[in-house]
Amino acid sequence: MAHPHCVAPLCTKETEGFRLCARCRDELVATLSELPRLYQGCEKLLRERYRVEAGGATPSAIGLSEAVRFARRHLRETLAGWSALTAQERGERGPDPSKVHAMTVFLRKNANWLAAHPRAGEWAAELTELSAGVGRDHSNRRQHVA
Ligand SMILES: [Zn+2]
Repeated sequence: MAHPHCVAPLCTKETEGFRLCARCRDELVATLSELPRLYQGCEKLLRERYRVEAGGATPSAIGLSEAVRFARRHLRETLAGWSALTAQERGERGPDPSKVHAMTVFLRKNANWLAAHPRAGEWAAELTELSAGVGRDHSNRRQHVA
């Protein structure tokens, strides 16, 4: 009997009992562990990235603070959405939607459940995009594409 394939973007591994393969799930747990630090450090990360993209020019303070505010809000809202869905469907009390660290802890605790959820692929795609959006470099990842 053929096993279903992992639903994470760019992954073609077979999975058993989950929608995400163990490797993608572990990668998401690692991403969740890094998000509070990225949230704190995203101003510095974005400043660096803008400088590289602009060929060495320092970004304007207004442009940068807008980008930081947007990236942080997007990160908080994405985590809040998945935390609320998890809490609601599991009948648990969810974390405070303004507390980034508490939400990442909660989602990590529920990573196995989320890896088996019908929306696991969406979860994987959003988290990966989120961490890239606040500065994490994914260019060396995804080498396990079969
Ligand atoms: Zn996978």
